[in-house]
Amino acid sequence: MAGTVFAGIARRLEGKVALITGGASGIGEATARLFARHGARVVVADVQEELGRAVCDDLRAGGAPAAFVRCDVTVEDDVRGAVDAAAAEHGRLDVMFNNAGIVDPARSSIVDYDAADFDRVLAINLRGAFLGTKHAARVMIPARRGSIVTTASIASVGGGMATHAYTCSKHAVVGLTRNAAAELGQHGIRVNCVSPATVMTPLATKHIGLSVDRETLEGMASAAALLKGVVPKEEDVAVAFLASDEARFVSGHNLVVDGASTSSRLPFS
Ligand code: NAD
Repeated sequence: MAGTVFAGIARRLEGKVALITGGASGIGEATARLFARHGARVVVADVQEELGRAVCDDLRAGGAPAAFVRCDVTVEDDVRGAVDAAAAEHGRLDVMFNNAGIVDPARSSIVDYDAADFDRVLAINLRGAFLGTKHAARVMIPARRGSIVTTASIASVGGGMATHAYTCSKHAVVGLTRNAAAELGQHGIRVNCVSPATVMTPLATKHIGLSVDRETLEGMASAAALLKGVVPKEEDVAVAFLASDEARFVSGHNLVVDGASTSSRLPFS
C-alpha cells in the first residue's frame, strides 16, 4: 500500500498546506489521502462537489484538516478563488498540485479529429495547469517558498499512446513546468511534473473502455519491468516526494512513474 512506502519517514508534509485540483477522484483523491497521512492540511478543488466534499468529510473524520472548494480549472476566477481560499484559511500555500484532467471522448484519426474536442482537452489539461501555476506562484513568491506539481502522463514522453489532444496537452505541461521552474527558482519555488502510466481510475476506465481492450492493457503491464498488475499506485508517493522538502533541489523535472513501461516495447510504440 502506498502509505507504507514512507513508513520510516513519518509525516514528511507536516504543517504544509496543499491545494489539489481534481482531488475528488482517482490520483487526486489518493494524493489527498496520502498528503493528509503525512500531516498536510489539504484543500480539494474540483467540479464534482459531492465526491469532493465526501473525500474531505472522510479526512476530517480521521482527524486531518481538509476543506473542499468548487473550482473549474478552466475558469481563471475559480482558480484565483481556490488559491486565495486555501491561503486565507491557513495563512500559507506550500503545495499546488495541478492534477485535474480529462481524456477525449474517442480516439480517431487526425483527419477526423474534432477541433472542439481538441480545445476542450487543452482547456482543462493545459490551461488549467497554467492557471494553477500562475495563481500559486502569485501567493508563493512573497513567501519565497513552494512546490508546484502537475500531473502529466507517459503520453508526455512519446506518441501513439493516447489521443492527439491528450498527447499534446501532456507534452505541453512539461514545457510549462520547465519554463515556470526556470523563472520561479529565484523565488525559492520548485516546479515539477509526474508522468504516471495507466492507473485504474474513472478516467482510465473510460479511456480504456473506448480504445484499449483488457488483453492489450495486460500486455502493456507485462511488457513493463516492474508492473505486476494493471493497478500501479505509486504516483501519489512520487507527488508527495516532489511536494516535500526532501526534493529541495529537484525542479523542472518530469518524473516518469511507469515501472519502465516507456523504456520497454509498448504495443502502440
Ligand atoms: P479521474 O477522472 O479519476 O479524476 C480527475 C478529476 O479531475 C475528477 O475528480 C474530475 O472531476 C476533475 N476535473 C475534471 N475536469 C475538471 C475541471 N474542469 N475543473 C476541476 N476539476 C476537474 O482521473 P485520474 O485518472 O485520477 O486523472 C488525474 C490526472 O492524472 C489527469 O491529469 C490525467 O490526465 C492524469 N493521468 C491519469 C492516468 C491514468 O491512467 N488514470 C495516467 C496518466 C496521467
